[in-house]
Amino acid sequence: MTDIKERSVLCALPDVRQICFRKGLLYGFSRVFSIPLKTLRGASRSLRVDQFCSVVNISSSLMIELVRGSILPFYDLHGAIRSFVQLLKLRGTVGVVDPSEAAPVIDALTKKNLNLTYILNTHHHHDHTNGNTELKERYGAKVIGSDVDKERIPGIDIYLSDGDKWMFAGHEVQIMATPGVTQGHISFYFPGSAAIFTGDTLFSLSCGKIYEGTPEQMLSSLKKITSLSDDTSIYCGHEYTLDNSKFALSIDPQNKELQSYASHVAQLRNKGLPTVPTTLKMEKACNPFLRTWSMEIRRKLKVAASADDAEALGVIRQAEDNF
Ligand SMILES: [Zn+2]
Repeated sequence: MTDIKERSVLCALPDVRQICFRKGLLYGFSRVFSIPLKTLRGASRSLRVDQFCSVVNISSSLMIELVRGSILPFYDLHGAIRSFVQLLKLRGTVGVVDPSEAAPVIDALTKKNLNLTYILNTHHHHDHTNGNTELKERYGAKVIGSDVDKERIPGIDIYLSDGDKWMFAGHEVQIMATPGVTQGHISFYFPGSAAIFTGDTLFSLSCGKIYEGTPEQMLSSLKKITSLSDDTSIYCGHEYTLDNSKFALSIDPQNKELQSYASHVAQLRNKGLPTVPTTLKMEKACNPFLRTWSMEIRRKLKVAASADDAEALGVIRQAEDNF
């Protein structure tokens, strides 16, 4: 197992029926379960599902685990999975992305007897940083975020800027400034794993609300992300996909790929399963914010064919805000 180069996704949803999901099949397991959702290339393609259900055996791969947060008072109004904290593990180094709260992270780490090395924040909003202080105090973890947000991210230790390269246990992480939601928003791209943590910039079937930036900034941030390879896994900060699919279908109803993805999303959510990660390929085909050129979307929203993409994005954003 040590020669596995491909990413695997380990998903632990505490206090929930634990299942292993692959290619539409459900497998019952009594303990932590893994979700090898993405294509496993080469030798690893033939491995059995149950071989992925142990963290210990996969020492050379970056493990990415979605941890279901408990109900967040401000954001989790629907009582479903709405926010993710994402654990990364490679050779004993453990990171968490955007800990909206400390408890589920501590729970997941304790169950696996792991320490926490790094806290990675995509931006300063409290639904991404609330857990920083408690986790930092408990584990001595270093907090990493944008230099733009050094006054706003609790406990920040390491400031990074656009284009910086940072190493996570020998695994290169590229920092991409992706402003729009906030001025200091960054995304963490792991080229060796073809995975990017997009926080609130790119969601599945949507993008973040533009609180501090402009549609032009958001467009440019999304373009940076879409310049990556189509098979890049998108790990966003919230499970909003089902709601997003309803809006997307309302303005792009003839899009066959969107229709089929939306029905897949509904099935996953009916089973209580996450829709994250998604892929860039899927988002490019279905996400209206990456399809600002679409004449059908423009007609629906009365955006002139001659309008530029930023203007179209602004109109789509406003329409979803009011949906
Ligand atoms: Zn958020």
